[in-house]
Amino acid sequence: MIFSLRRRSRFSFLWRRGYLWSMLVLLVVTMLATLVWLAGLYEASQVQGKVERDAADAVNDIRTMLTRNLQDMQALQASSPQLDVWPVQAAALLRQHRELLRIEWRSASMVTLVHVDTPFRPLVFSRLGRENLHADVALACANARRFSGPAYSPSYFLPQDDGAGQEVMDLCLPLNSGARLSGYLIASYSLPTILSDTVGPQLTRGQEASFTELDGTRLALHGSMRRGTRIFTGQQVLSLPGNTVLLRLDSWRAGPDLFPNVLTALVTVLSIALLSVLAMLGRDMRRRMQAERNLAEALAFRKAMEDSLVTGLLARDTQGHIRYVNPAFCQMVGYSAEVLLASNRSASAPVPLPADSLMEGVLPPLLDRHIGRVLRLLPPEPEPVPFWPEDMAQAYRAKQLARGLDSGSAREGLETVFVRQDGVRFPVLIFEAPLINAVGTQTGWMSAFVDISEQRRVEDLSRASQERLQATARLATVGEMASLLSHELNQPLAAISSYATGSLNLLKDDDSAAPTPHDVLKADLAGALRRIAEQAERAGKVIKSVHNFVRRREGDREGVQPQALLEAIMPLVSLQAHKLGVQVQIHVDDDLPPLFCDRTMVEQVLLNLARNGMQAMDQTSVTTRLLALDLRLDTHTGGVQFSVADGGVGIPVEVAKQLFTLFFTTKQEGMGLGLSLCRTVVEQHGGILEFENRSPQGTIFRFTLPARPSGN
Ligand code: ADP
Repeated sequence: MIFSLRRRSRFSFLWRRGYLWSMLVLLVVTMLATLVWLAGLYEASQVQGKVERDAADAVNDIRTMLTRNLQDMQALQASSPQLDVWPVQAAALLRQHRELLRIEWRSASMVTLVHVDTPFRPLVFSRLGRENLHADVALACANARRFSGPAYSPSYFLPQDDGAGQEVMDLCLPLNSGARLSGYLIASYSLPTILSDTVGPQLTRGQEASFTELDGTRLALHGSMRRGTRIFTGQQVLSLPGNTVLLRLDSWRAGPDLFPNVLTALVTVLSIALLSVLAMLGRDMRRRMQAERNLAEALAFRKAMEDSLVTGLLARDTQGHIRYVNPAFCQMVGYSAEVLLASNRSASAPVPLPADSLMEGVLPPLLDRHIGRVLRLLPPEPEPVPFWPEDMAQAYRAKQLARGLDSGSAREGLETVFVRQDGVRFPVLIFEAPLINAVGTQTGWMSAFVDISEQRRVEDLSRASQERLQATARLATVGEMASLLSHELNQPLAAISSYATGSLNLLKDDDSAAPTPHDVLKADLAGALRRIAEQAERAGKVIKSVHNFVRRREGDREGVQPQALLEAIMPLVSLQAHKLGVQVQIHVDDDLPPLFCDRTMVEQVLLNLARNGMQAMDQTSVTTRLLALDLRLDTHTGGVQFSVADGGVGIPVEVAKQLFTLFFTTKQEGMGLGLSLCRTVVEQHGGILEFENRSPQGTIFRFTLPARPSGN
């Protein structure tokens, strides 16, 4: 599910990215196309404008030329020439102006007085005859008369002998002598020559100029015949008195102009560059994303490694501020990473170093002498971190400060103590190494922590078991010696007993004789001997019971009367009771059932409990030294309940917690084996060893043993 969600979100991310990229490319392409189009339009408008300007200039040139010609013609007539001189002057004028085909001087009645033809062409009017073209001239002159100034005729086609022809336009200049019309000066203009001579020199290649009628009929044309696919046309009206023609200027462009001008070419080049940059950017972005993916994977892998470490890691800067902790360290000290990182951010003012030996040997001697000044120079110390034990925080700070002075050398296996959030202290082993950045500068310290509590616990356990082993070995030796001792002592005690009994017998020999003064002495002696025999016998019993206790006999269960168990230990109990001034009180129920048990072991249990009870009363604070040994019938189980009660100091709670722990003792000469052994024996016999404190003081230990089943 998560996988498919991830895929979907990745897919939507890719789609969005692709969409954005297409939009960007579309936008750029549209922008570039618009730019190229606008540049084309601009170029066209530039060319169009130029054509318009050229056309206007051409019309101006023509107008100037016509005006100048008019002035020349007026100058021709101004000096009232004679008919014989006039042709010479007119011919000179015609030589100067190639566009003029013919100049005529006519009378007021339109009769040609004299005329001169251009020297540059054959006679142009010869084919049609000048008189046949009278209508156009007459119209121009009628207009001239009406305007009282020069007037032009509409153009007309003048065919030539060679089959070609040309458009011709006449100028009629009325001549006045005083206020009277004295005649006319008729000048015929060749429209093609006007174009070729006046406009032609200004035309560039690919341009052509033409005169047209207002309705578009072409009259004359000049220019190259080159044709392009695109044409720019400029038209200007040449309005003359009596005639109006259009001057049309066509500018041909060859081929489709993709790059009409430098600007467009520049824009296009820039566009291509932009597209290339976009493509490179895209490729760069793809690579960067790949690099980011690789980096993210590497980071995830590194984080997984850090998280799975069992060693705590912590990085500090040179000022001692924590910069990084890994999860294992957080788990070790029980604080979250945020708490640890924020814990010693606030820098405190430098505090004087403790004057004790903590810093001895840590700081260089010179610094030691000037410790106050040095402290002011040192960076402010960080706050103590929460996992430092309070009582050791100052020492740790001092050590950290000293470490700040000493840079470079790595430290191995430094053992110290930290405190968990729950207040429990634990030992840690620290490995420290300088933190070197990419340019080789030390930026702090990297520490690795290993929690060695478990190691310490195992070491303690092994030490304890070692000690136990030694104690057991000692105990075994003592047992052996006690057994040997009891064996050795048995003989002399038996001898003492025998000699005492023999001596008594000797004293009894003459009982029948009359009493003598020695009899009183004898009686005293007999009493003393009896006591010697008794004490020797008692000593023998004690030694025998010691011997029996020391000798191990396993699984040796037998039917025993409870009373007999008590009787067996009584000599030893009495011995110690006498020594400690304890009174022993015994209660045994009548008709107790016989038990099936390991006699020696149960006797040892009773003896241990009795001895512990008596020792507990061996205190000056205890006034009533009474040890009560009770054997009662347990009505629930039908067995026998043994209880040993004393009036001693009692068992405090902290002692009670480890009462049955092997080797736990509060006595100087104690072994701490007794109660543990008692409980094992009782439990092996199917009972439970319990204890409780008595009021006002003292302790009572109880256990129940089952009665012998019938048949055993
Ligand atoms: P040991 O007698 O060698 O010290 P035990 O296992 O018999 O070893 O006893 C362990 C500890 O239990 C004693 O050191 C003593 O402090 C405590 N204890 C046992 N019996 C009593 C008692 N009756 N009253 C008070 N303390 C007792």
